[in-house]
Amino acid sequence: MNTRTILTFILSLSLFSCLDNIGQKTANTNLESPHLEEEMDFKYWTWITADPDRDDASYRDEFEKYAGHGLDAVLINTNADPVLLGRLAPLAKAAGLELHAWLMAMCRPGDSVVRQQPDWYVVSREGNSAFDHRPYVDYYEFLCPTREAPRQHVLDLVEGLAKVKDVASVHLDYIRYPDIFLPIGLLPKYDLVQDVELPEFDFCYCDVCVAEFEKTHHKNPREMDNPAIDMEWKQFRLNKIREVVDLAYELAHENGKRLTAAVFPYPEMADHMVRQRWDKWEVDAVLPMIYHQFYEEDTDWVGFATAQGVQDLEHTTTELHTGLFVPGMEAEELREAISQAKRNGAKGVSFFDGPALSDEMLQLIRDSK
Ligand SMILES: [Zn+2]
Repeated sequence: MNTRTILTFILSLSLFSCLDNIGQKTANTNLESPHLEEEMDFKYWTWITADPDRDDASYRDEFEKYAGHGLDAVLINTNADPVLLGRLAPLAKAAGLELHAWLMAMCRPGDSVVRQQPDWYVVSREGNSAFDHRPYVDYYEFLCPTREAPRQHVLDLVEGLAKVKDVASVHLDYIRYPDIFLPIGLLPKYDLVQDVELPEFDFCYCDVCVAEFEKTHHKNPREMDNPAIDMEWKQFRLNKIREVVDLAYELAHENGKRLTAAVFPYPEMADHMVRQRWDKWEVDAVLPMIYHQFYEEDTDWVGFATAQGVQDLEHTTTELHTGLFVPGMEAEELREAISQAKRNGAKGVSFFDGPALSDEMLQLIRDSK
């Protein structure tokens, strides 16, 4: 296989598992959790997906392997299950790892509550609901961030995870609209050219969004010749995602936890691709997915995108830790990507995903501590 074929193969695999990353209230209001406050020079994280059928011993081994090679934190997707998260939390703690509750927020594939509610789903400019017309892939079950009920459902999931003992943060993933523009490396797979905002990938034009927008701005996005150039309509959608994040931040903090998020590479790019403007959010740390392979870029782009985000967060308290996509990378390339992140102001790097880290990579991570 030539390089491009290999890349396409990797990306097509990854799309189904992770276009983003896949994908106590009351008493405890103490944010002085000892492992959050530890000074760490450069932090190493990894995303992993939990399997409820695996036994504790196998998780203990996995966590010890990470901790023994210098990793500091794991972000665990339990499919929003606080019971499974509660089972894994003491195991991670015993291994000396910080634990983060990774949640697919606005995209909820297979969520049995969501499936009962067709009108919770986003609606495209063509008028199709993601309930039965999914953009790109079948797991794209995106919810409308404007409607009260789906928003509350997501916040309830945040709260459930935030109540689990020994969780450092709730980690929002898919905290955005469906991609209006896909990463350039993924376009051939769908045989798509996206040089304008295409109506089938443009969301959300549901009755509630349109009515709320019209009330404030006295214009109807369904009637616009070119909604892509209407700044208020763009801003409305950026603000809707931001509102969910800011409410999640409050909930996490009320429960003595932090809020972190997996986001697109840098703010303007995230805005352009998925209506996500993360430099304006209330969030303790962002882990931008600076997956250079998806954008047909070299490792120096990891440095560029990291620097861009760090600069945009300059006047905030939000930390930036660079996310790296490991499958298909050689150890040497990973070393260079880590170095690019470090040199450009990241506070750490996070690897997608844990099982993709080879022995050689784990070695270099340990040696770099
Ligand atoms: Zn809507």
